[in-house]
Amino acid sequence: MGLRLRQARECSRGSMTHVFHRQLKAAMPVAAKGDGPYIVDTEGKKYIDASGGAAVSCLGHSHPRVIQAIKDQVDQIAFAHTGFFTSEPAEQLADHLVSRAPGQINHVYFVSGGSEAVEASLKLARQYFLEKGEGQRSLFIARRQSYHGNTLGALSVGGNEWRRTPFAPMLIDAEHVSPCYGYRDRQPDESDEAYGLRVADELESRLKEVGPEKVIAFVAEPVVGATAGALAPVPGYFKRIREICDKNGILLILDEVMCGMGRTGTLFACEQDGVAPDLLATAKGLGAGYMPIGAMMCTSEIYDTIRNGSGFFQHGHTYMGHPTACAAALAVQRAIEEDDLLANVRTMGDKLDAALHDRLGNHANIGDIRGRGLFRGIELVADRVSKEPLDPGLKIDGLIKREAMERGLICYPGGGTIDGKQGNHVLLAPPFIINETHVAEITEKLGDSIEAALRAAG
Ligand code: PLP
Repeated sequence: MGLRLRQARECSRGSMTHVFHRQLKAAMPVAAKGDGPYIVDTEGKKYIDASGGAAVSCLGHSHPRVIQAIKDQVDQIAFAHTGFFTSEPAEQLADHLVSRAPGQINHVYFVSGGSEAVEASLKLARQYFLEKGEGQRSLFIARRQSYHGNTLGALSVGGNEWRRTPFAPMLIDAEHVSPCYGYRDRQPDESDEAYGLRVADELESRLKEVGPEKVIAFVAEPVVGATAGALAPVPGYFKRIREICDKNGILLILDEVMCGMGRTGTLFACEQDGVAPDLLATAKGLGAGYMPIGAMMCTSEIYDTIRNGSGFFQHGHTYMGHPTACAAALAVQRAIEEDDLLANVRTMGDKLDAALHDRLGNHANIGDIRGRGLFRGIELVADRVSKEPLDPGLKIDGLIKREAMERGLICYPGGGTIDGKQGNHVLLAPPFIINETHVAEITEKLGDSIEAALRAAG
């Protein structure tokens, strides 16, 4: 039965389709085809994918070498459970990642997405301490205005109140300190460096309060995505965080699910801050949306402790290390290198930043335009001087999304809690293959969409 016929039947029964997505009330267009940085729906309407969905589609939607690699792999074998076998694509992808990873990161554990990668990191960190005889450690410290995924462990370390509140009684122990949010928190007479040290030192104070011997790890996104809109740290912040973790004997888990795999112009976002974590979670850009895949990476110290101890990580999923997903991700990562796409991320990122400043930089409701590489955020405010967020009742993100979709633009509006109120930003994370014409199209459509949404909000 054709999709439209089925929808018509379902409508007559009072619901759209049997599938449900997060938005239960919204009628959505049906995605039919991918074409480079564009998605085309069943009505033939073309959308420029300026956010790669949610920072996923870093190669666009029709990369021939990735598609061929998937077909070739499925021709070989569909599935082999990791309880019995490893696979060539998994081994090769792990080699590829480890040989480019920062610091002492030496081992990779493949899963099917970002939340799974974070969840595995939390559990491996806990098990590492258990096997060292430090089972009293059960607490994580993370940051407000962060998002680490929707499974219960990942949600616990995430700092986004709106996402946490309904599930609060079910969450594990986590404390939250301030994010590095220079636009809002740096004092007028304070240098970036001084601000970075001050805000990082909040971790040290919190460790003193709770007792460092109870803490497993500090968890942070190097560049905050969904809850703050491409919020990059000031120089020196993460170096201080690393020092504090080492001094207090806790691990550093960096969540690069959104900002990693080249999105900010280097393969790993933390490279730009001169730090290496003990555990790193990645996903989204790893498989570029061609297959669902994520990875947890860890140091030899962690791996060897468990290998020489119980020899068994007490965690796993059926589809981890899926050969087709690993083959797709390997082809994605090779394409990024063969086509020198990180250079394009840096060049087009600068152009996008300049174009956004030209188009929106003086707008009365645009407080900040920020980010790194092709990871850009635009923060909306009611007032540029006081930086007061817009009235949450305006539901501006829904309006921006609607206006953008009408204009054939996919962008990612969102927000975290600012002084008890929902803040608003638009996140851009276009494919690494974009050119100057795409930058111009994105900027013009986004500018028009934001202006139309603000008009509609009154
Ligand atoms: N961590 C970060 C930083 C994310 O942005 C996300 C998703 O947006 C996740 C974790 C969760 O990833 P997933 O949606 O693939 O489970």
